[in-house]
Amino acid sequence: MTTILVTGGAGYIGSHTVDRLIHHGFDVVVVDNLMTGHRQAINSKARFYQGDIRDQDFLNQVFDRESIAGVIHFASVSIVPESMKNPLKYFDDNVKGTITLLEVMHKHHVKRIVFSSSAATYGEPKRIPIKETDPQIPTNPYGETKLMMEKIMQWSDQAYGIHFIALRYFNVGGAKLDGSIGEDHSPETHLIPIILQVALGKRSKLQIFGDDYPTKDGTNVRDYVHVLDLADAHILAMKRLLNGGHSDFFNLGSSTGFSNLQMLKAARDVTGKPIPAEMAPRRPGDPSTLIADSTKARKVLGWSPKYDDVHKIIGSAWRWARKHPNGYDK
Ligand code: UDP
Repeated sequence: MTTILVTGGAGYIGSHTVDRLIHHGFDVVVVDNLMTGHRQAINSKARFYQGDIRDQDFLNQVFDRESIAGVIHFASVSIVPESMKNPLKYFDDNVKGTITLLEVMHKHHVKRIVFSSSAATYGEPKRIPIKETDPQIPTNPYGETKLMMEKIMQWSDQAYGIHFIALRYFNVGGAKLDGSIGEDHSPETHLIPIILQVALGKRSKLQIFGDDYPTKDGTNVRDYVHVLDLADAHILAMKRLLNGGHSDFFNLGSSTGFSNLQMLKAARDVTGKPIPAEMAPRRPGDPSTLIADSTKARKVLGWSPKYDDVHKIIGSAWRWARKHPNGYDK
């Protein structure tokens, strides 16, 4: 069996990818420091090592013990507003963590890595939909760290022959369809889980950050992709590298934009709840509109999203939220 190391495998996207890897017959090793991840989110068939990827001794031990064929690298901090307030935390966690991971991979002759990049690397796009070759000028430190990670990977490929696939995610939502794993951040900052907390009565109202953007209704427009489709894209990317594929970059989105007001309406439809909302000031660092051109992922990786609809995304997130109103903590 092929062994894949998943860093950040206890996190939201990581845990869904671990689950799908096991479903596809891979042997899976998870590394996570559990700062934001959840032990209960990790599929019980994976071997789990608790530790920090910035700790080189810890990582060396994992690589000594396991025969790792490739790495899927999620471990990072990923909250845009937090990164605006505390950028150094972001450079330390994301950039230093990636450098340490690559050093250990190089030392152990592990030559393949798929990693989480982000639409945030593009900043305020010059044109919509965004193509992989478009300029990358981040508007927040989080996006800057992801762009730096991409560049570090490029030079590491040239020098050490570590092949990478960078997956630039747009907005991710949804949960495993049985509602057993899902999104649980503390504090929660993301739109869909916050809307659903209001629907559950755990928050009084949604605040919509900004209604004066140059969009159809003045609110930000984002491109939502289901976490299960995203997980499958990682598996396709890893298979491509295992079959000798070279380094590359792919956008992952649905190629359709939904405004924050449209998302609120869709959530009202799905849940049947009134979901009170009010307008609030803009949130610093938010680009106006982000929509992916994902043609390349579809053509080259053979990616074909199955849950390409915000009602399905919100519906599966709602199933998880109702089953786990307090997230993983009972
Ligand atoms: N948003 C909002 N109210 C909230 C949380 C988010 O209006 O309580 C908006 C946010 O300003 C952005 C969109 O929802 O326009 C998506 O934000 P999220 O944090 O989910 O993802 P991001 O786009 O930052 O990756």
